[in-house]
Amino acid sequence: MLKTALRQRAVRLSFSPRRWASTEGAEQQPFPPDNEWSHPPSKATISDEEIYRLAAKPRRPLTLADLVKHGKPPLRDAALLSSANFTLSLLPARLAHRIQALRNLPFIVVSNPNVSKIYNNYLHSLSTLEPFYKKPIETIEDERKFTDAMADLVRTHSNTIPTLAQGFLQCRKYIEPAEVTRFLDQHLRARIGTRLLAEQHLALHMASTADAIKEKPDPTHVGVIDLAVKPADIVRRCEGFVAEVCEYKYGVRPSLVIQGDQAAEFAHIPMHLEYIITELLKNAFRATIESGNEKEAIEITIASAPDVAITKLESLKKMSVSKENSYDFSQEGLEEYCSDADDPMGPLHSAVPCITLRIRDRGGGIPPEALPNIWSYSFTTFNNEEAAAATSDSLGSEDDAGLGVLSSTEADQSSIAGLGYGLPLSRAYAEYFGGGIAVQSMYGWGTDVYLTLQGIASTKELKEAPTGLEE
Ligand code: ADP
Ligand code: MG
Repeated sequence: MLKTALRQRAVRLSFSPRRWASTEGAEQQPFPPDNEWSHPPSKATISDEEIYRLAAKPRRPLTLADLVKHGKPPLRDAALLSSANFTLSLLPARLAHRIQALRNLPFIVVSNPNVSKIYNNYLHSLSTLEPFYKKPIETIEDERKFTDAMADLVRTHSNTIPTLAQGFLQCRKYIEPAEVTRFLDQHLRARIGTRLLAEQHLALHMASTADAIKEKPDPTHVGVIDLAVKPADIVRRCEGFVAEVCEYKYGVRPSLVIQGDQAAEFAHIPMHLEYIITELLKNAFRATIESGNEKEAIEITIASAPDVAITKLESLKKMSVSKENSYDFSQEGLEEYCSDADDPMGPLHSAVPCITLRIRDRGGGIPPEALPNIWSYSFTTFNNEEAAAATSDSLGSEDDAGLGVLSSTEADQSSIAGLGYGLPLSRAYAEYFGGGIAVQSMYGWGTDVYLTLQGIASTKELKEAPTGLEE
C-alpha cells in the first residue's frame, strides 16, 4: 500500500533524475545503481587553484524572477542557450564555495565516509562543469552536453540529506552542535539554489524538446515554476501521501479539512511546496495519532493577501537578512543587482501575492523542554531506535522501494519522522523565496504552524509574460 502511494507520487513528480538519459547516443551510459552515485576523488580533475578562484567570486541570491527570465516555453534555441549560460554564470562559484565550506570543517569530520562522500560529489560536479564555463555555450549541441551535465549534477546530489544526517550523527563527538547547525543551514540553503538552477535548465530543455516534437506548450509552467499553483491542491496531494504513510506505520489515517481561500493561486515551485507541506503534515499527523486524538481532524486554513507592492530590494533583503546565506549581501551588491535592466519583471517593483497556510492539529502541542530545539537539524522526539533506522533506511532504501524516483527535491520522505530535518529544512525552503514558518504550540492541546509563502509578480502579469519565441 505504501509502495503504491510512493510509486504514484513518483509518477506524478515529473523531475525524476532517472528520466534524464543522455541525449548523446554514443556517450550514453546506463545509470549506476543509486548507491554508486557518489564519486571517488580520483575522478575529479579540477585543481585547487581553480576552486579558490571560483570560490572567491561574488555570489548573489537567486530570485524567482531569475528563473522565469528566459521566457515561457516553447523556447527558441537562443533562449535555451541563454538559460544554459545564465546557469553556468552562477553554478561553478556556488559549487566551489561549498567545497571550501566542507574543507573548513574539522579534518576528522571531513574524513567521515558519509561527509567525504558529499565532498567528493561536489568535486565531481565542479569537474564536470569545467569544460563548459571557459567560454560561452554557443551551439545547441553544446547545450545538450551541458544538459547532460545538469542531469548528472541533480542525480549525484539526490541523496544528500540522509547521508549528511548520518555523517554528522557519527561525528557528533568531534564538533559542537552549534557549528553543525551553522554548517548544515548554510549548506542546505545553498543546495536549494544549486539544485534549482540545474533543475530549471533541465526542465526548460525538456519542455522545449517536447514542444518541438508534438505537445502544445503548457501555458502555466516556466520550467519548474508553476505560474498558477493552488496550495489547496498541493495540500490534498500531500495529504493522500502522508495518510498512506500513517496507515502503514500506525494503522490509522487522520482526516484533514481545508478552510479559507481554497481557490488561491500564485506563482511558485510546486516541488518545494510539496516538500514543505508533506513535512508539516507528517508532524501534525504523527502528533495527532500519538496523542490518541486521531478523531480530531487536522485543519488547514488558507489566506491569500491582496498583491502587495514590494520593491525588489526589499524582497531580496527579506530573503537574505539573517540567513548568512553565503551570498554577497552588501547593500551595493543588492542595489547593483536590483538595477539589472535585463530583468523582465522590472528592476524595482513588483506586486507580490502572499499566501499563508495555518496547519492546526490537536496533537497535544510541543513539550516546553523540546521547544527550543525544534529548529536544530537532527533534533527529534521520535523513538531513538526508530530514528536511527530512519537514517539508515533512507541511506539504503532507494532501490528497495523505488524511492529514488520519489522527488528530485529530497529523495526519501517515506518515514513519518526521525531525521529531525523536517522543520529546519522546510523553513529553509520557505525562506528561500522570502516566506517563512512560525510554530505556535499550546502544550496540552495542539500546535498551529503558520507557513507564509511569497509568490512572484501578480499571476496575471506572469500569465501575460512573453514566451521564449519572442525576439
Ligand atoms: P522529526 O519529525 O523527524 O522528528 P522535525 O524537524 O519535523 O523532525 O520535528 C522536530 C520535532 O518537533 C519533532 O520530533 C516533534 O517533537 C516536534 N514537533 C514538530 N511538529 C510538531 C507538532 N505539530 N506537534 C507536536 N510536536 C511537533
Ligand atoms: Mg517531521
